[in-house]
Amino acid sequence: MIHRALKVILLCFVLMLSVAACAQTAPTTAPVGDAPAAEPPVATTVATTEESSSGLRIVTTTTQATDLVKVLTTGVDGIEITALMGAGVDPHLYQPTESDIVAMNAANMVVYNGLHLEGQFDTVFEALSEQGVVIYAVSKPVKDGGFAIGGFTLSESLVDVDDPHFWFDPRNWELSVQGLADALAQVDAANAETYQANAAAYIEELGVLFEWADTGMRSVDEAQRYLVTSHDAFQYFGASFGWRMMAIQGLSTEDEAGVGDIQETVDFVIDNAIPVVFVESSIPPDTIEAVIEAVASQGGDVRIGLREMYSDAMGEPDTFGGTYIGMIAENVYTILQSYQCADTTVEIPAWPDSLSVSPPAEILDAACAE
Ligand SMILES: [Zn+2]
Repeated sequence: MIHRALKVILLCFVLMLSVAACAQTAPTTAPVGDAPAAEPPVATTVATTEESSSGLRIVTTTTQATDLVKVLTTGVDGIEITALMGAGVDPHLYQPTESDIVAMNAANMVVYNGLHLEGQFDTVFEALSEQGVVIYAVSKPVKDGGFAIGGFTLSESLVDVDDPHFWFDPRNWELSVQGLADALAQVDAANAETYQANAAAYIEELGVLFEWADTGMRSVDEAQRYLVTSHDAFQYFGASFGWRMMAIQGLSTEDEAGVGDIQETVDFVIDNAIPVVFVESSIPPDTIEAVIEAVASQGGDVRIGLREMYSDAMGEPDTFGGTYIGMIAENVYTILQSYQCADTTVEIPAWPDSLSVSPPAEILDAACAE
């Protein structure tokens, strides 16, 4: 639904070279990333009519931020969205590339997650903000509202920080939707009504999604509600739906997992008879695989989840998991189906017809692994 309005797709880099307004040079103070694996950002331009064109250039960091900007700007002409991170990209480790910095320099607005999720962007954001680019964190209304879970340590210099994975509670995301709609209405007052109408309709959908997910996740017996993953991204998800979390790595993937972390997880899995552990799409599977192997060698029995979980990155564009609603829902299906395959009693509620996306048959009919 969201993508139907998108007409022209241009490679951002080509655009940057050909549009005079984009020809500003990167600030010399900003660090230039050394991550050659990242693909050049792709700009999507909505077809434009001269009189109603907003001409807004928005750069987004994470896949969640990109999805939200697309949802809220639906029906507004002339918006150019440049997404920096794609599916499977770990935002804790992502270094802005030279072309990312060029795109952000040319933007009216940069929309990012915040709460140190984009750990390598701090200096760049400071420089951009000094140049008058609006830098907006979608975590802001959640933090301001007091719904951020605090008390974590990220590094020696960053202690008592908030958990940045706040989007995993759909009620938090509702706050982000309204906050970003207000920010867009301020930057582009001519289209304020559209941003607010899109936000209202989408918040209603998120309410339906929350009820569906909550019913499913709470169908599992309370004593069995454990989610074991590679990094600690699901605290809000657990708090939303009454599950307890255990992760090998901490809040950020910047801290490496040690032998002690793996052994601790192995003991936890055996002591609590956890039947399934989950790999995340943006994190290499080796630590979870090490846990499974160690549990097996100690006579335990734990299986790997039916599919990868989406933690810090959503799925590929134009897929169910490539939307925020689909990403949350696919995680719920993945957990419930995996537990069902491990002979746990679960009840997966029917998908609500009122939602704008629907799960594909390959998710609904997924078979248990041998
Ligand atoms: Zn994370």
